[in-house]
Amino acid sequence: MLKNILSASACEQCRICCEYDDSDIWDAPGFSEDEWQEAGLEGRFPYEKRGSLYYLVMEKDEKGLYHCPCLSDTGCILGEHKPFRCALWPLYVVRTGDGLALAVSDVCPAVFPKTDAEILEGLRDNLPRIRKAVEKDSALIEELHENYRLLAGSDRIV
Ligand code: SF4
Ligand code: SF4
Repeated sequence: MLKNILSASACEQCRICCEYDDSDIWDAPGFSEDEWQEAGLEGRFPYEKRGSLYYLVMEKDEKGLYHCPCLSDTGCILGEHKPFRCALWPLYVVRTGDGLALAVSDVCPAVFPKTDAEILEGLRDNLPRIRKAVEKDSALIEELHENYRLLAGSDRIV
């Protein structure tokens, strides 16, 4: 979804966002019912359901890191079936006082430095898909977190 603003080579050298520690394990993705079924994950990995979303159980390793079980040496095994939250990362649809907007996480070294206008332009073709996903399952909408930057003007287009 972010191919206009995020290169595969940037992610190959980084891979931050499929591993978590105690400070950000809360940010691990939840799968909507449809995404869970499409990804074919039932019976493959342990999971827990919170509200309407499915969460993969991630065990902590000896270094204190939690690894998503879908991460392989060559990237995410889900390919085109990765959930909305992962496809949109490092962006989020967030609630604001007036409605919805887009925000970017400061964790991503490739996208966060881009301007708001650059990010929104790169996303333009995918805005209908983003709207449709959060209309279908409001659990995919996040609260604004302290390390997110709201994208100026995005409240008019989401
Ligand atoms: S944090 Fe950003 S650059 Fe790093 S792997 Fe994730 S999306 Fe790619
Ligand atoms: S589902 Fe795929 S993209 Fe999402 S956290 Fe797991 S390995 Fe990463």
